[in-house]
Parts: sequence; structure tokens; C-alpha cells
Amino acid sequence: MYDPKPGDRLDSLDTPSMIVDLDIMEENIHKLMLLLKPLAVNIRPHLKTTKSPILAKKLIAAGAKGACVAKLSEAEVMAAEGIEDLLITCEIIGPAKVARLIELFRKHPGVQIVVDSDIGATAIDTALGESGIQEPIQVLIDLDVGLHRTGVAPGLALALAQHISTLGHLKLRGIQGYEGHLQHVHGREEREKECRAAMAILTGTATLLREKGFNIQVVTTGGTGTAEFCATTPGVTEVQPGSFIFMDSDYRNAVGSYFSHSLTILSTVISKSTSERRVTIDAGLKTLSTDSGFAEPKDMPDVTYTPMGDEHGWLEWKENKPDIPIGARVEMIPSHIDPTVNLHDFYYAHRKGVIEEIWPVATRGRVQ
Ligand code: PLP
Ligand code: MN
Repeated sequence: MYDPKPGDRLDSLDTPSMIVDLDIMEENIHKLMLLLKPLAVNIRPHLKTTKSPILAKKLIAAGAKGACVAKLSEAEVMAAEGIEDLLITCEIIGPAKVARLIELFRKHPGVQIVVDSDIGATAIDTALGESGIQEPIQVLIDLDVGLHRTGVAPGLALALAQHISTLGHLKLRGIQGYEGHLQHVHGREEREKECRAAMAILTGTATLLREKGFNIQVVTTGGTGTAEFCATTPGVTEVQPGSFIFMDSDYRNAVGSYFSHSLTILSTVISKSTSERRVTIDAGLKTLSTDSGFAEPKDMPDVTYTPMGDEHGWLEWKENKPDIPIGARVEMIPSHIDPTVNLHDFYYAHRKGVIEEIWPVATRGRVQ
């Protein structure tokens, strides 16, 4: 049976395979800590990118305080692996999910949640009341700072806080306002300007809630494109970057190369196709996400990639014929890291071409 092991060389891996250059990944983690550690914020990386408790532990060992997950089902996996300080950043709605939350919270009381509606908050409070669990769950108000995805409108945050204060099983601890629409704003100055405006909404709302007597200890926000601006905004206590650890071409085009591409998809040229200026590789839509444009072949500036259906892709060039005969191996840089990782079962983490570790994508498919 095909069974890659630590110590094997990358040359022996079958393709397509998701590979991580450990030197570059460790440098990305180091650079994030260098950037944010001196500032007065906690770093709570978002595990929606890596979907891996092993990587979560590496981030915590490097200085992160806990982690974020997007979904409850991801929290179940991470908590079972010993990551107790977890924030679930998506709203928990519906009886099935609320019941799962109660079971998770019973075993792992460190889990924190966000709410953006009276209905959502009340349902969780009622279920906790019926569960017999005494301890209240820590709750953050999710605030819409301009992304318009989730989050209560700023003008309605006080009313939601007042509602939560009537619920005995919920303890309001803070506020989350994620400015996802600003992560990929091109140009540092423009991104900073728009981010500071979003942060003014977030910290202004936190101040208002405090003035009204609410104990807002946590103000959490930020991604790879904005974390440094959020972290230098007085009143922000925590940032949630995720993609920095691997990066992708969409992020690099927007924010530059402070963080480098540490993850690529190793693929193989399997056919010469019909043209002199084209070969076909074994990586298509099931291997590389396309929502943010197409992937790029690494170190081949004159070569472009176009997916050719589920299983295949073209590499094409106009001039400067690359040295990629049938059987050649090509590393592809994903355009959007999170959905690409979610297409693969394992990371093959290597140093200078020798596999050191193999990590399962443990929360792959955990979309609930
Ligand atoms: N926080 C929240 C709530 C998010 O949804 C995301 C990403 O979508 C992040 C943080 C991390 O952002 P990034 O991967 O861009 O660093
Ligand atoms: Mn993403």
C-alpha cells in the first residue's frame, strides 16, 4: 500500500500532494510573533486555515493564546485534542447545533461563542438551563463593522447586550468585529485607513457598552491583512489572523511578501497535450480552489495555469519554454489557501525536500 513516511524524500510522494516547507512556515510564525508580540494584544490564530490541532499546538507553543475556529464541529475536534481555549467565530443557530454546543461545553468549559441576535442568545440560554450545567458560557457580541456577513448593527449592540444580561446562563465577556472585506484591499495606506475606520466602530461600541456598565474585557478582530493595524488600535485586545502561516497568491498580491508561500500543491506533468506551448498537470478543480483566481506554478513567471476540469490543469507559456517534460513535478501556489487546504487529507511537511512530519487535515469537511 502507498504509505509515505517521515524520512522519505518529496521525490517519492505521489501527486497531487499538499506539501509544506517547514523552514518557511516557521519563519511566517516567527514573523507574526515578531510583529504582534510586542503590542498589547493576544494572538488567537484562526484555525479555519490549517484545520489541524497539530498546527494549533505549534502556534500556541510559539506564543498564541488559544485559537479561533469557524464552526462548532471544528471546535469538537480541537477541544478533544486538548485545545481548550477556543473561540467559535460563527453564530450557533438551530436545535441540533445548540444541543451539540451544550455537550461540547459540558466537557470543555473554556469554549467561547459569539451571538448576534436575541433569538440565538435565548435558545442557547434555554438549552443551558435545561442541561443542569451551572457555569455560564462566555459570550462575545458579534458586531458588523462593514463586512455585512454576520454581526449585529452597531446601533443595536446595546440592546443585544441588555438582552444577554437578562439571560442567566450567558456571560457577556466581549465583542468581536471582523473586517473581512478589508483583508485584501490593495495598498497598505488604503487598507490601514479603512481598517482604522472599522476599528473605530468596534472600539467605539466597546466603550459605549462599558459606559452602560457591561464588562467588556475582550475586543477581538483582524486577519492576515489587517492584524498589525488592529493590534495598534487602542482598545483592541486580541487578533485572529489565519492565512499568514501558509499565505496564497491573492494575499501576496494585496499585502506583499512579509509572509511567504510555505504551502504548495505538488503536481505532475501527465500529458503534452496538443500544443507546443502547453502541458497538462494532474491538478484541477478538486485540487486547487478557484474562487480567488487560478493557482500559480512556483518559480515559473512565464507560465500560467488554467484548470481543465475536475482532475486536470494546463500549464501554458508564450515564450521561454520551461523545462517541464512529461513526468516533471511542479509546485502550485494556491490562490486562496483556506478552501484549497480543505480539498486535501494530509499535509506533507518537509525540510529541504525530506519529509519530517505528516499532519492530517483533521477538520476537513467539518462544515457544521
Ligand atoms: N477571523 C474571522 C472571523 C474570519 O472569518 C477569518 C477568515 O475568514 C479570520 C479571522 C482570518 O483571516 P485570514 O485568514 O484572512 O488571516
Ligand atoms: Mn480565506
